[in-house]
Amino acid sequence: MSGETRRKKRIGVLAVQGAFAEHEAAFARLGAECFEIRQGSDVQACDALVLPGGESTTQGKLMRELGIFEGLKALVDSGTPTFATCAGLILLAEKIVGEERAWFGTTPIVARRNAYGRQLGSFNACLTFEGVGEVAGTFIRAPQIESIGKGAEVLAQIDDRPVAVRFRNQWALAFHPELGVDDRIAKAFLESF
Ligand code: GLN
Repeated sequence: MSGETRRKKRIGVLAVQGAFAEHEAAFARLGAECFEIRQGSDVQACDALVLPGGESTTQGKLMRELGIFEGLKALVDSGTPTFATCAGLILLAEKIVGEERAWFGTTPIVARRNAYGRQLGSFNACLTFEGVGEVAGTFIRAPQIESIGKGAEVLAQIDDRPVAVRFRNQWALAFHPELGVDDRIAKAFLESF
């Protein structure tokens, strides 16, 4: 043992819209240090990134308007560990069903927005998460992962449909692990790098 105190991991959280505060609280509980990305000058090298749930179209547009988009995409592209939930998954997806363009397009998945319909827009489901075990997943107007491409590993599924995948440095979850008190998935992400 060196006796050195371990440096806190620094996590940049996209904070233009959506449930970013909940992620910050969860990672703070786990001993990481978060900073908010609200404008272009906030985009800087860090240990990890969080793309929270919310409304992906609004987030994408705001990222472009605020000069965040290119720099953040470059960080994801260059291998910064990235934890994306719900709208965040849509930002990462290589293809969004019915939409001409993707946003970052760095994760080889096809996402369908609001796929569970109005009636069943929000629900909880028990699922088994790779390396973590059983968790309760909160889905809120969640996207479906229609298909996954080469190199994407399924971390959790419901029936036969993936609801969480990992591709290299990118974790993309259709549900919201941050909206509760169970930090095990965030912990597994933190321990993955
Ligand atoms: N329906 C939202 C979208 O399409 C995602 C929902 C969420 O993040 N909870 O962006």
